[in-house]
Amino acid sequence: MKFIPYGKQSIDQSDIDAVVEVLKSDFLTTGPSVENFEKSISEYTGAIYATAVSSGTAALHIAALTLIKPGEKVLVSPITFAATSNAVLYAGGIPVFADIEPEGNIDFDICVEMLRADSAIRHIFVTHMTGRPVDQDKLRQLKEMFDLGVVEDCAHSLGGEFGGHMAGGCDVADMSILSFHPVKHVTTGEGGAVTTNSERLHRKVQALRTHGITRDESEYQFRNLAFDINGNVNPWYYEMQDLGFNYRITDIQCALGISQMKKLDGFVARRREIAQAYDAVFAKNGYFVPLYDYDRRSAYHLYVIQTNFDAVGMTRAELFNKMRENGIGLQVHYIPVPMLPYYAEKGYNMNDLPTASKYYERCFSIPMFPAMSDDDVRRVTDTLYKIISI
Ligand SMILES: *Cc1c(COP(=O)(O)O)cnc(C)c1O
Repeated sequence: MKFIPYGKQSIDQSDIDAVVEVLKSDFLTTGPSVENFEKSISEYTGAIYATAVSSGTAALHIAALTLIKPGEKVLVSPITFAATSNAVLYAGGIPVFADIEPEGNIDFDICVEMLRADSAIRHIFVTHMTGRPVDQDKLRQLKEMFDLGVVEDCAHSLGGEFGGHMAGGCDVADMSILSFHPVKHVTTGEGGAVTTNSERLHRKVQALRTHGITRDESEYQFRNLAFDINGNVNPWYYEMQDLGFNYRITDIQCALGISQMKKLDGFVARRREIAQAYDAVFAKNGYFVPLYDYDRRSAYHLYVIQTNFDAVGMTRAELFNKMRENGIGLQVHYIPVPMLPYYAEKGYNMNDLPTASKYYERCFSIPMFPAMSDDDVRRVTDTLYKIISI
């Protein structure tokens, strides 16, 4: 029996050929594939600038350093991967968790209340949970009302859109981040990107990716070192102006990324088809409630179900174990960030997060990836209904 995990990459011969071609070329890193991959990301999302980096977490780290001053508070959803709020901490910021809407995204009305009550909150890092973009009109209102810095965590939502604007396009956000981990929409093995429409932010992001070094002579600060007495730039010269990192991504990875981007629309279309197939079965048979009604704008990175486990006569752990015995992987997205020991020890808790608490008690994710066949989809739902004790 074939095991069906909750998420998986789709690699075909054209991806393999693209990688092999780079291996035979002159550049393994910082060559033409990096720029071409960045170009395909910015064309797809609509953002003017894209910087590809070594992971989604690296992208979040750089975005956070570019925006946050130490001590500033940042709104974050408790229902996201830990990397979102970890990035705030990397930059010396203070994550402040705002409760979610029942459909899984941060609740902007609650954000307004929290912003009114605390002027030290200066930014929001907003996750498009499961791939369903947050309401861009509300986000814009929030940004303008409180003059907030905005980073959209689009690790789930590449291919999603809101009001004609593609996720990652930074219609409202100062910066967005993407992840190219194998379970995400397109993969480079490990990889990520920062997108923005601001040239100033783009330059900072580009520098932080490579040690904070610039080779742009218009930016040089020590002009007596940079230029000779005739005003010609010294050919060896560069300046390190910020404490940056080596967060570069390789040409090998970017060749895979370029090849994958060509198939993104097809991947997302298949994910939406699978979501509709799941929706139909659950609407007919009950007990398993999709996190939200079918949303054609969602990129469906995840398919999350809400279940009352008392009603199905088993614990979530029993359900996970029985599904695994039947060759199907489930997952929980996510344990709320404030409940993770590192955060709990800092004094975070779930006291003011009732909707997130309820979500966590009832949630689990079922397999969702474009290579699933219709038979795989049916096997998942058939097995769920076969094993529950109703
Ligand atoms: C995957 C993910 C990240 C981190 O991406 P990596 O590429 O794994 O570092 C960040 N935020 C969210 C919401 C994610 O799902």
